[in-house]
Amino acid sequence: MSHKKNIDRQLLSIVAPAYNEADVLDEFYNRVIQSLENIEIDLELIYVNDGSHDETSKIMHIQSEKDNRITTIDLSRNFGKEIALTAGLDYVSGDAVVIIDVDLQDPPELIPEFIQHWQDGYDIISAKRIKRHGESLFKKLSSFIFYRFLSHLSDIQIPEDTGDFRLMSRPAVNALLKLRERHRYMKGLYAWIGFSHKHIDFERPSRSQGNSKWGFWKLLNLAIDGFTSFSVVPLKLASILGVLTAFISLAFGVFIFTKKLLFGDPVAGYTSLAVIITFLGSIQLLALGIIGEYLGRIFNETKNRPLYLIKNIHNSIYSKSEDMSDTEN
Ligand code: UDP
Ligand code: MG
Repeated sequence: MSHKKNIDRQLLSIVAPAYNEADVLDEFYNRVIQSLENIEIDLELIYVNDGSHDETSKIMHIQSEKDNRITTIDLSRNFGKEIALTAGLDYVSGDAVVIIDVDLQDPPELIPEFIQHWQDGYDIISAKRIKRHGESLFKKLSSFIFYRFLSHLSDIQIPEDTGDFRLMSRPAVNALLKLRERHRYMKGLYAWIGFSHKHIDFERPSRSQGNSKWGFWKLLNLAIDGFTSFSVVPLKLASILGVLTAFISLAFGVFIFTKKLLFGDPVAGYTSLAVIITFLGSIQLLALGIIGEYLGRIFNETKNRPLYLIKNIHNSIYSKSEDMSDTEN
């Protein structure tokens, strides 16, 4: 990737993954450019079109024709936000990199503050939501519970209420890019690499256009990814439950046996029998399910497929699109 870089200026790369975001792209672009108007820094904007079905790709290409600081990466299909932004990170050349949503829920106006802290020496500056607008009580509650749980179960401290919106220094980006796992629980990965962190508080606005792509099942899956990527405690939980129920059944056995010896106990106890069988059965299924979640992820990792496939990369400096259809990453 070539970029005409002013020697004594630093280059800021902005990575913006987008899936069906045609309605906001122009506003997004304008706000990013406006926010950085008075900042002494060079800019490159990397759009990743994550297999959108609307005009997203077309609008990105139009923008990049007008502004040669824009590079457009078209993925071959929808790979999901985590992978799309990883694709973008693979192609940045900046001294610092900002990851931002195009739906304007991550206000570009915060970027100058990010840059300030980066120049003060921080490697990762992230925006922490202090208020969530336009999100249901259920979503707020479930994310609250999820973060509390995860931080207790995993060895690393995963900060709650921070999204992907952040600035990362070049060393931090290089470190992050070394982690090529398929199930990318990004918040965990950002925390895992270490480096010096700084959080800035902000109020997250609601989407300006369109709908969030995170339905219930996607969020649940993300939560399971979070647990399985950063904690083996659920697996231990199965053994602990096993030991626990073994003790309980032993005590129960002794109790029934003595009762029979002392009082004699002709056929009775259907209820307790039924309860015991269903209880143990469900615990076994639960344990199997937990093992299955890990096993499925191991299976996906061992296939060792590329994280994503690129249809083409477009940058008007090259004047025409580079066909990347056979490139593997
Ligand atoms: N996104 C993406 N691929 C997807 C889903 C979402 O690139 O499969 C992008 C989307 O266009 C947006 C960002 O990721 O720029 C955040 O998505 P969304 O607004 O749906 O998530 P939320 O803000 O609700 O967390
Ligand atoms: Mg959003």
